[in-house]
Amino acid sequence: MKIAVVGTGYVGLVAGACLAENGNDVICVDTDAAKVRLLQRGRIPIYEPGLEELVRRNRAEKRLNFTTALESGVRKSQIIFVAVGTPTGEDGSADLKHVLDVARDLARAMNGYKVVVNKSTVPVGTAARVRDIIRRETTHPFSVVSNPEFLKQGAAIDDFMKPDRVVIGAEDARAAELMKELYAPFTRTGAPIMLMDCASAELSKYAANAMLATRISFMNEVSNVCEAVGADVDQVRRAVASDRRIGPSFLFPGVGYGGSCFPKDVKAMLRFASANDYEFHILRAVECVNERQKLRLVTKLQSHFGSIKGKRVAIWGLAFKPRTDDMREAPSVPLIGALLHAGATVHAYDPEAMKVARGIFDSKISYADNGYAALTGADALVIVTEWNEFREPDFARMRKLMRNPVIFDGRNIYNPEQIRAQGFTYFSMGRP
Ligand code: NAD
Repeated sequence: MKIAVVGTGYVGLVAGACLAENGNDVICVDTDAAKVRLLQRGRIPIYEPGLEELVRRNRAEKRLNFTTALESGVRKSQIIFVAVGTPTGEDGSADLKHVLDVARDLARAMNGYKVVVNKSTVPVGTAARVRDIIRRETTHPFSVVSNPEFLKQGAAIDDFMKPDRVVIGAEDARAAELMKELYAPFTRTGAPIMLMDCASAELSKYAANAMLATRISFMNEVSNVCEAVGADVDQVRRAVASDRRIGPSFLFPGVGYGGSCFPKDVKAMLRFASANDYEFHILRAVECVNERQKLRLVTKLQSHFGSIKGKRVAIWGLAFKPRTDDMREAPSVPLIGALLHAGATVHAYDPEAMKVARGIFDSKISYADNGYAALTGADALVIVTEWNEFREPDFARMRKLMRNPVIFDGRNIYNPEQIRAQGFTYFSMGRP
């Protein structure tokens, strides 16, 4: 099929490359000319495992192209995905400016029947708004489809190629059939294609992210209670997870959720629920717990040292999660801010996010070339992101480099007994 993907960020680029990999002709459109130039030269603006190779292969096969020209992309394609950003607006709601702008512009470029597929995460009612805008701008026939994306950064290609399910909100049979045909190669493993109305499809994405954020905040609270009463969150988690009604995913305590989706989507869902006269109490609490959790390690440092003024703190991990360079809403940002505010100096290392971090912290912190370099003379190591390379380091070398062998592990990546046997003072989350 001939496909245009408008918005070439994490979602659009992955979707475009994966759709091309399955034999479609894909043209990716973005207003960011520098990004498009980079992609045209075969370079990838983000870090996502496997993506560079996928893009290179499909460019070489001439199934994947990049442009800033929306009009030609639309005219050449039958299916147009919209995957532009929907950031948090001033009042907490999703800012739909990009989505609605694209709807207007693509309507003006239409030259025949088109299926406009909204992949961005958007509040209920957006498909209807997009439909109204397009109807005002063109006499050509079209269908609007809601197809929320559930991929996870760091495992995005696998998630797109082998999704748990494909959700399609479609109001007419012609568009539904085309979407089923398009997704058939991605669901050979038996994953369901779920056809529904647009409002339900739109809400499904928010409900899924809100549920995951709720599990994270819930487990962080359980972990904090473990600390208060002297229980071990690892044991509690295993017991809870073995209940088949609950299951094992998303039950790990940590330093709070971040990234471009959970914080934004929780906020947006709160906002559109209240705009429809419904107060979503649980989500309000989920958000509040998350804000507090991001600073929990700072409290731990302060209670260990008394004051952290003048302390040299090494940070391992800046990205909001491993296998990405994304620092949007990363817990490392408020955590480092609080450390600096309290008078500590910060020496940070992340395997992929150093460039992004420089853009955020500039000269307020120093940047190490590797994990060990960050430890030189450190009074404490704080582990914020659980990159695999932090899991089995050379502990003897670490101890020699640090002034005080103290570790604050926000991700519970070490065994407390083993790490203490190595001569470290060790604090983790929810474990004695
Ligand atoms: P992003 O910020 O990485 O990318 C958005 C892209 O859209 C940018 O490259 C921007 O230049 C481009 N853009 C903006 N306005 C444009 C316009 N008028 N025409 C063409 N291009 C335009 O965003 P993202 O992380 O890919 O997220 C996109 C959407 O997908 C959001 O709604 C997000 O909530 C949702 N989503 C994201 C993820 C994720 O893991 N990142 C997962 C599922 C869903």
